[in-house]
Amino acid sequence: MKIPNNMVNALALFLSLFSAIGCTSKKAEEVKFSSSSMDPVEISAQKIKVFSAEKNAYIWVERIYKSDEEWKKQLSPLSLEVTRQKGTERAFSGKYADNHAKGIYSCICCGTDLFTSDTKFESGTGWPSFWQPIAKENISTASDSDLGYERTEVMCARCGAHLGHVFDDGPKPTGLRYCMNSVALNFTPSK
Ligand SMILES: [Zn+2]
Repeated sequence: MKIPNNMVNALALFLSLFSAIGCTSKKAEEVKFSSSSMDPVEISAQKIKVFSAEKNAYIWVERIYKSDEEWKKQLSPLSLEVTRQKGTERAFSGKYADNHAKGIYSCICCGTDLFTSDTKFESGTGWPSFWQPIAKENISTASDSDLGYERTEVMCARCGAHLGHVFDDGPKPTGLRYCMNSVALNFTPSK
């Protein structure tokens, strides 16, 4: 009688495991179905992934859209002109061209981290220059032919602020020169 009992128990265990697995896979299918039924275009239009220096990790943040009036209230006239109207500060006029302190440069408009002092170098141009952004996700670029020749404009990925341009005459290891406007940046020294 012991053997058949064991077999019955084994069969019961097998059946319960089988139904548990079946149940789990059904749940997974339901989750998959519900997430695929959400509109991915809508999600990506609202949130972007950026690197946070404070958290030392990637985070999801809302994109920022503000009216000209709202930016005007928040920014100095020169920051407004540069970041929202693609202006350029006068060379050697900005406060960060000669800043050698350790820290993080973030967007004056929305606070997104953009560059670290570790990638800043002396370009001699009179504008703060970096050979790499803090993360490629934190900036966006666009072709700019406003001066009659092609340049690559650099913007904040989160709020679209104009930051400056990137050129291919920078130092190693990237060979890039991110030529930024001081008034588009806010510097936070390392603690
Ligand atoms: Zn920004």
